Amino acid sequence: MKRTDVLIIGGGLAGLSLADHLQMRGRDWLLAEAQEACGGRIRSASLAGAPFDLGPAWFWPGQHRMEALIRRFGLQVFDQFSQGDRLFQDNTGSVYRNRGYASMEGSLRVAGGMGQVVTALLGALPDNRVMTGTAISTLRQTDGRVVATSANGQIEARRVVLALPPRIAAETISFAPVLREGTMKAARSIPTWMAGQAKFVAVYDRPYWRDTGFSGDAISQKGPLVEIHDASPSVGGPYALFGFVGWPPEVRAQHRAETITHAIAQLQDIFGAALGQPLATEMTDWAQIPTVATRRDREGPSGHPAFGLPLELRDLWEGCLHFGSTETAEGFGGYLEGALESSERVSKAI
Ligand SMILES: Cc1cc2nc3c(=O)[nH]c(=O)nc-3n(C[C@H](O)[C@H](O)[C@H](O)COP(=O)(O)OP(=O)(O)OC[C@H]3O[C@@H](n4cnc5c(N)ncnc54)[C@H](O)[C@@H]3O)c2cc1C
Repeated sequence: MKRTDVLIIGGGLAGLSLADHLQMRGRDWLLAEAQEACGGRIRSASLAGAPFDLGPAWFWPGQHRMEALIRRFGLQVFDQFSQGDRLFQDNTGSVYRNRGYASMEGSLRVAGGMGQVVTALLGALPDNRVMTGTAISTLRQTDGRVVATSANGQIEARRVVLALPPRIAAETISFAPVLREGTMKAARSIPTWMAGQAKFVAVYDRPYWRDTGFSGDAISQKGPLVEIHDASPSVGGPYALFGFVGWPPEVRAQHRAETITHAIAQLQDIFGAALGQPLATEMTDWAQIPTVATRRDREGPSGHPAFGLPLELRDLWEGCLHFGSTETAEGFGGYLEGALESSERVSKAI
């Protein structure tokens, strides 16, 4: 059995950032990540030779923890491309210029993709403390220690941090002694931000939309893509658009190929014929990833929920058990900044 002071469950931004805090304080810690790679909802994939974000792409001015992290690792930041006309497609498929909605002007992106932040954080941590492919299924508290079980064996820790969405923790981990019903209910009631979404990226040799005076921003009532933006690298190509897929998760899952075909055809209808021939496409359907989304997350919340750490998720197992994903952040809950905010809070608490 492995032994440590603090076991972090989840290698998304919150878990990695907590590991970073503990490492800098000289604390003893281990991190268990269910998937084969860290990053959680952050995922940058190489398409046609360049990295594109299939999870988060933006952070915003005033998110000081993100700014500081990016500065510390010397990563380059650039503005979301937003020059040119925006487009609106109504439910009959007709397309109009500049019909009232805001673009993502002012949003900031990381050169090389948001995955750069994960790579940089991992580079600052000792490899032998990060265990990927390690899904924790059971937590048992005995004599002031907690024993975590995964298919790879057991880890004993003095404190455990659930750096994963509270809903995923409640639905996929068994707790002994069982957590109070109020705690389980509160954890299950917190939606996992963006977990019901699918993101589609189409890569092109030229920014055809820019060439014809469009920013790449579009809203559609027709779908399958309901919100589209430029996703090109900071400099040069290949160029890309991304869109959030509005078709329900069940339809996307059963008709994946058709969803992609319709998405390409829709880009062609909105921006012009050249968009019908992408160099590469990719769709990541977060609603189908069991370490991110539960069945309840397939129906996303209607707006941005008021996140934070409910009373029911505090003071668990005499202070041995802590919740710490972005969904537990008071200020920027749901966002990348919220993941950093939560890790800061937990680091202070333990
Ligand atoms: C499509 C999409 C677009 C987004 N866009 C933006 C954006 O532009 N800007 C922004 O600020 N935010 C955005 N977000 C939200 C952002 O991704 C999250 O705020 C952030 O990544 C959450 O980090 P986290 O570490 O709290 O959780 P997660 O990234 O979910 O990390 C939790 C980790 O726990 C692991 N795990 C789960 N169960 C177990 C288990 N039993 N044992 C071990 N490990 C486990 C998971 O595999 C995962 O790696 C977006 C999200 C999505 C899906």
